[in-house]
Amino acid sequence: MIKGKYYELIKYTSPSVSPMIAAGKVMKELEPECKVVFIGPCVAKKAEAKVEDLKGAIDYVLTFNELEDIFRVFDINLEKLHEELSTQYTSKGGRIYGRIGGVSAAIENTIKHMFPDKANIFSSEQASGIKECKEMLENALHGKIQTRFLEGMGCDGGCVGGPKSIIPEEKGKEMVDKFGNESKVHLSAKNRIMNEFLRELGINSFEDFNDREKIKVFERKL
Ligand code: SF4
Repeated sequence: MIKGKYYELIKYTSPSVSPMIAAGKVMKELEPECKVVFIGPCVAKKAEAKVEDLKGAIDYVLTFNELEDIFRVFDINLEKLHEELSTQYTSKGGRIYGRIGGVSAAIENTIKHMFPDKANIFSSEQASGIKECKEMLENALHGKIQTRFLEGMGCDGGCVGGPKSIIPEEKGKEMVDKFGNESKVHLSAKNRIMNEFLRELGINSFEDFNDREKIKVFERKL
């Protein structure tokens, strides 16, 4: 149970698990024997993987720094290796999650596509880094926020500014945006491969997202 000053805001928090946990849970659901390794710029993910109600989804968490060390020890130079394009189905919305504003943009675009009559209701605000997140939560606590969706990133600039990133934040944002713009799939809801995964989980229509049992891998109780 999460307690503290901001406890009363929990009821407004999205019950969605993080993308890391969601991806791990889907993989374990489809291939129970598989081992899942999450690689990113974040040290907090090591703790998240061990949280009581989330553990089991991710077997190992490596940071970019640690992976860089492994590559160095084994004399692996990625630039000399053939690129495998197996990740080319990822949507723009999913690719830009790593920088501040990416989550809000993905949600806004999805609402515009799925509920065009409600698109003008959506508004968002972003907080980048712990200081801004605290200020945003304070404002929310005291009813000083008019926007409907609040996005808070623990690191300045979002994950591109993560403590174990190996390139500067600005360069990371530039590359995340480029990666996003290169995607042939604009919306995750239009992602053919993702929809195939969902079908394997028994989710065949948008209405199925109202079935708590079917979407249990994507949610947690707060
Ligand atoms: S914003 Fe920072 S703390 Fe949050 S998931 Fe990204 S790297 Fe981790």
